[in-house]
Amino acid sequence: TKRDGDQPEFLQAVYEVLDTLQPVIEKHPEYEANGVLERIVEPERVVKFRVAWVDDSGKVQVNRGYRVQFNSAIGPYKGGLRFHPTVNEGVIKFLGFEQILKNSLTTLPMGGGKGGSDFDPKGKSDAEVMRFCQAFMTELQRHIGQFTDVPAGDINVGAREIGYLFGQYKRIRDEYSGVLTGKGLEFGGSLARTEATGYGLCYYTQEALRVLKNDSFEGKTVAISGSGNVAIFATEKATELGAKVVTASDSNGYIYDPNGIQLDVVKDIKLGHRGRIKEYADRVPGSEYHEGCAGVWTVKCDIALPCATQNEIDEASAEALVANGCTVVCEGANMPSTPEAIAVYQKNGVLYGPAKAANAGGVAVSGLEMSQNSYRLSWTFEETDAKLKGIMESIVAESLAAAKEYGEEGDLMAGANIAGFVKVANAMVAQGVL
Ligand code: NDP
Repeated sequence: TKRDGDQPEFLQAVYEVLDTLQPVIEKHPEYEANGVLERIVEPERVVKFRVAWVDDSGKVQVNRGYRVQFNSAIGPYKGGLRFHPTVNEGVIKFLGFEQILKNSLTTLPMGGGKGGSDFDPKGKSDAEVMRFCQAFMTELQRHIGQFTDVPAGDINVGAREIGYLFGQYKRIRDEYSGVLTGKGLEFGGSLARTEATGYGLCYYTQEALRVLKNDSFEGKTVAISGSGNVAIFATEKATELGAKVVTASDSNGYIYDPNGIQLDVVKDIKLGHRGRIKEYADRVPGSEYHEGCAGVWTVKCDIALPCATQNEIDEASAEALVANGCTVVCEGANMPSTPEAIAVYQKNGVLYGPAKAANAGGVAVSGLEMSQNSYRLSWTFEETDAKLKGIMESIVAESLAAAKEYGEEGDLMAGANIAGFVKVANAMVAQGVL
C-alpha cells in the first residue's frame, strides 16, 4: 500500500477484493506459499507514454498514454481503453485489477489489462480524434498483439475510435488480426458487441432477481445513470423485459421522465450528434432536466443500474435510494459505488450485483469476437446474444456457488471476488513464481 499511496481508486478496488478473500486464503495455504496475493496486486507491466498530435489550429498537443498489463495467468491481457481527462495511472490500475477477476468470471481465456489517456474528446473534431488515435496507436502497437494484449473500448472509446486505432495498427504492423475488439462489423467486429455490456447487465440482474427473489424486471421502475454505450443498451433491454426506465444522465445533469425514457431520442442526441442530455427535456414534453448528475439517485425507483463512472453513488446517494424503496443495485459502470455506499446496501438487504460480475457482458462478447476472428467467421446476432445470456446466467450461478462454499451464502459480491480469484490463483500457482 505504501507503494500505491497516491492511487486511491486502485487501493479501493484492491481492499474491496481482499476483504472477501480471507476464507479462501485460509483454505488454500498454497496461495500464501506462492505469494499469490502479493503478486496479483502488482501489474506485470505498466507502459506510460507521450502522445503528441497536432490540433486543427496547427498547435502541438501532448497527452499521456497508458497500458497496464496486469495479469496474463489465464490468457492474453484484455481490457478497454478510456479517453477522459480524469485518467491517471491509479485509475487505469483499478480498472485493470478489476478486469482480472471479471475476465476470469466470464469463463473465457482472457487475462486482465486496461489502458487509455487523459485526452478529452469533448469538443474535438473528427480529424483531431483521428490524429490523436493514430498518435496513440503509433506507440501502443509495439506492446500489443492478438496473442499478447487485445484492447477494447471504454469511456469515450467507441466504434469511431476503435476504427481509427485498428487502421493505424494495421498500417504500421502490416497485419490484419483481431488485435482490438469492438471493431466495425465490416472489419471483424462481432454482432451484439455494442449492446453487450448493457444487455448483459440486464440478463445478470434478471437472473439474480429470479434466483434470489423469485422476481423479475416486469413492472419495475428503474433508474439508470449515464447516457453512453452501457446506459443506452441497459435502458433498451430493461424496457424490453417489462420495466419502466425513468432516468438518463451525463456529467452535467439528469433527466427524469415519469412516462419512461424514449430511447430513440437519447440515441439521436448521443449517438446522432454527440449532444448533451439536457436536450431531451426540450424535445420530450413531461420530462424534467436537473443540473448535477448525482441527483439521479434521489429519483424513486425499485432498481438502480449505475452506468456512468466510478464512485458515482456515495453514502448519501445510497441512503436516498434505500429511503425511496430501491431494493436492487446492479452495476453497469466499473466501481460506481463507494465502500460506504456498499455498506448501506448490505445493512439494508439490497440485492447488490457488483460491477466485475454484472458488467462482464462487454468483455465476454469481446472474447467471442476474438474467437470469431480466429475462426475467420461471424456468428449471427441471435447466436451471440444467446451465448452472452448464458454467460451472464452462469456468472450468477458461479458467484452464488462460491459464496456458499465459503460461508457467505447469497452474497454476490463475495461470490464474484472468490470465483474470479480462485481460477486465476490456481493458474498462477501452476505456472510458478513469475
Ligand atoms: P461512454 O463514454 O459511452 O458513456 C459514459 C457516460 O457516463 C456518459 O453519459 C458520460 O457523460 C458519463 N460520465 C462519464 N464520466 C462521468 C463523470 N465523471 N461523472 C458523471 N458522468 C460521467 O462510456 P461507456 O458507457 O462505455 O462506459 C460507462 C461505464 O461502464 C464506465 O465505468 C466503463 O468503465 C463501464 N464499462 C463499459 C464497458 C463497455 O463495454 N463499454 C464494459 C464494462 C464496463 P459525459 O458525456 O458528460 O462525459
